[in-house]
Amino acid sequence: MPRPTNVRYPQCQFCASSTTPNMSRCSGCKAVQYCSKEHQTSDWYYHKQQCKPLQLALRKYQREADNLGAEFIAENEGYFWGLLETREYMRARFDVGYQLQHIVSNVAAKQSLGHFRDMLKLCRGDNLGVRDLVPGLCLRLGRDQECYDFIKWYGTEGERGDYDWGDRSLPFLNLRGEDVMEDLAWFKNKYAMAHNVGMLLLKLRMLLDLQDLKASQELGNIQALHADAILSIQDQLAHRSGIWKERREFLKPEGLDERIAFLKKQVDTWFDKVNKGNKYFFKGLMDHDKYLYATQEPYSMGSPEEMILLVQYCARSWMETDGAMEWARKKMQAA
Ligand SMILES: [Zn+2]
Ligand SMILES: [Zn+2]
Repeated sequence: MPRPTNVRYPQCQFCASSTTPNMSRCSGCKAVQYCSKEHQTSDWYYHKQQCKPLQLALRKYQREADNLGAEFIAENEGYFWGLLETREYMRARFDVGYQLQHIVSNVAAKQSLGHFRDMLKLCRGDNLGVRDLVPGLCLRLGRDQECYDFIKWYGTEGERGDYDWGDRSLPFLNLRGEDVMEDLAWFKNKYAMAHNVGMLLLKLRMLLDLQDLKASQELGNIQALHADAILSIQDQLAHRSGIWKERREFLKPEGLDERIAFLKKQVDTWFDKVNKGNKYFFKGLMDHDKYLYATQEPYSMGSPEEMILLVQYCARSWMETDGAMEWARKKMQAA
């Protein structure tokens, strides 16, 4: 049976069917769904390895949430972590979000992103480094524009030395629909490796899509086709990046060569940036099986320990992007 290989769309966790309406969720974790009772039973051998620890984490998180109470949580949004009694709650919630992002399921990925987004609202200062997990999850869910806006906020506003993280009246993560074809000179945050890796993949997905589109045009004159047929071909070829939903005009044949050249330059620059920032990363990405569940240790910039964290936070977004791992492998061999 084919199992889901990405989290872009809701699928049965056992047979990867996405056509069954009203799929039922695992009652233990509510993070995966099935097209039938039989498939849930058949999947239990695999799923229990993720479901059982996740259930424990969920119970701990629920206990901590009950301890604080809904009123306290609402009143102190923005000041978490600074209040000592919130730290166990934040750690428990992090554990839930972290375990969820390891499950290849649309429901789990959405839930994980939801937890991390909420945690950023509760504590803008982000003592647990939740912001490093957001880009990968956005990309996995096809929310490339959201990913770009998120990284850009941290790379611009978030880099201002005088930004007061404790002032809830200031705008926070408020960028929307920023221009993904702009120059990246604003990106000053060279230490945010997870954001560098996210930006590289975001641009690579656009590049691979446009290159496939270009190749199809060279094969035949798709201009001669009916408009609906052109749209359908574009959708099938440009299937990696979620950007095209809002920016269909980038798929047009006019200026396609220029856009490809522009993206290729950015992708090459970002590959070097990531490779220089942590020379272990791409090797670790290739050997992700070794590191996905390895114990995290305190790390310094550019260290093998940092690579493990990056693999755990980013590898799934690469594995779930058609052609991305092959691209990285070739790049590494050439470097
Ligand atoms: Zn099924
Ligand atoms: Zn479960």
